[in-house]
Amino acid sequence: MINVVNIRKDFPVLTTTVYGNPLIYLDNAATTQKPECVIRTIDELYRTSNANIHRGVHFLSEKCTEKYEQAREKIRQFINAEKKSEIIFTSGTTGSINTVATSFGERFVSAGDEIILSEMEHHSNIVPWQLLCERKGAKIKIIPFDDKGILRIDLLDALINENTKIIAVTHASNVLGTINPIKQIVAKAHLYNIPVLVDGAQAAPHENVDVRDLDCDFYTFSGHKIYAPTGIGVLYGKEKMLEQMPPYQGGGDMISTVTFEKTTYAQLPLKFEAGTLNFIDAIAFGVAIDYINQTGRQNIINCEHKLLEYATQKLSAIEGLKIYGEAAEKVALVSFLLKDIHHLDTGMILDKKGIAVRTGTLCAEPLLTHFGKTGMVRASFAFYNTFDEIDVLCENLEKISLMFN
Ligand code: PLP
Repeated sequence: MINVVNIRKDFPVLTTTVYGNPLIYLDNAATTQKPECVIRTIDELYRTSNANIHRGVHFLSEKCTEKYEQAREKIRQFINAEKKSEIIFTSGTTGSINTVATSFGERFVSAGDEIILSEMEHHSNIVPWQLLCERKGAKIKIIPFDDKGILRIDLLDALINENTKIIAVTHASNVLGTINPIKQIVAKAHLYNIPVLVDGAQAAPHENVDVRDLDCDFYTFSGHKIYAPTGIGVLYGKEKMLEQMPPYQGGGDMISTVTFEKTTYAQLPLKFEAGTLNFIDAIAFGVAIDYINQTGRQNIINCEHKLLEYATQKLSAIEGLKIYGEAAEKVALVSFLLKDIHHLDTGMILDKKGIAVRTGTLCAEPLLTHFGKTGMVRASFAFYNTFDEIDVLCENLEKISLMFN
């Protein structure tokens, strides 16, 4: 069980006031707040231990290298990957997807090939594939979703053919909240020997992730959405896939030997970690994972499910409020519009009350187009949010509704 009063003490920013009101932070899908232990780790590392990793024989370099590799191991365990070498540190989900789109694309995609995405993807899981298609003369096909926000995987068979080279799909939608049946998608794709990349940016913070159970070929997520710092993320890839792919970038640390005639590459995972990685934040990422494990992942999941249930019920009761995304399995976020009030008006008025929600396209324009909308309001929750905060959100939405009458 989570004691929310105690948990909130771990997150210094939650005591902030905004325009004289206590901060109500409901923009967790964009980025989560950081616990004291993560903030302290970054501060301490720069004060006591900072030295570049993998290169030095001196004390501090070895200390940082050890901590960095320990963080990799923590992440391996967190997603139940088989090997540490399958965990690659990147700048975030976007960095991870670009790595696969470029490197996998370079090796396996040619003119006339096809890539399957879903209609509910974040721009980060659309644009890298479009860039690849432009370079290679390949094309994108789309799995649609229905009006409840449920993916039509019954249509997947009809989209697959001998030209399909990869399926890239989100584990959980950042707008609809829908948790997609990844295991089922992967099983189907593998019948045709098609690899699957899963965008886990919204699932990793809220659900159990077991990449071996999912059997996906790639899994990507960002540190900053899971209580770790910005600028650090993860690409999980099955060893047999990563081994066949060329390096994404060239530079220090990713090489074995270099001559002007020929370079040989380092073993995994370093082959995909060119240059000086964001090692301080990677170490702090490991500390965030420790924090989640200590709090209890299942406790976090249970708490967020209750918040989602409560918010859905309270928001649905507001006259004229429409929720987008009604799947039975959702992560803790609710996107909505209030009557025909512009999403920016709603967001700006809530802000003046200290309530931080996200407004706009939510980086998923094709998804919004499905509903004929150009913007929505999204409240997204973390386990440090409270039922009282949801009440304040709803009271203010009622007031906004009256104001625009
Ligand atoms: N994919 C999804 C589903 C997201 O929600 C986000 C961010 O909101 C991203 C990808 C991109 O994550 P990042 O900006 O951390 O790379």
